[in-house]
Amino acid sequence: MADCLFCRIAAGDIPADIVHADERMIAFRDINPQAPMHVLVVPRRHIATLDDLSPDDDQLVGEMMRRAAALARENGYADRGYRTVFNCNADAGQTVFHIHLHVIGGRSLTWPPG
Ligand code: AMP
Ligand code: ZN
Repeated sequence: MADCLFCRIAAGDIPADIVHADERMIAFRDINPQAPMHVLVVPRRHIATLDDLSPDDDQLVGEMMRRAAALARENGYADRGYRTVFNCNADAGQTVFHIHLHVIGGRSLTWPPG
């Protein structure tokens, strides 16, 4: 989608600090990190929210989760722990309407979230 920020990052039109790229997804550092590690795992295909996923996307989302775990492990946070988050729509504070999996690690995180 031409007017979607994360589509434009995936296309290389807007720069980002990319830490992983393959045929189906990219991962880049969040511009406003909430922890020492804050990476977004983003499918290349435009999907606005979790509500727009179909059964055909099951493999894609599984790959995104496993990529999040691999990135956390590469950064040394597998054993001590990290958090993965999909925000969906207004009450969750979704601001970019192209799904993205936050991978947050490197500090002790509180629960419940704010
Ligand atoms: P959400 O609130 O779940 O929609 O998260 C959107 C995230 O995208 C926020 O954590 C932002 O800091 C991040 N973000 C917005 N613009 C950019 C950008 N140009 N590059 C990297 N991250 C961004
Ligand atoms: Zn998009």
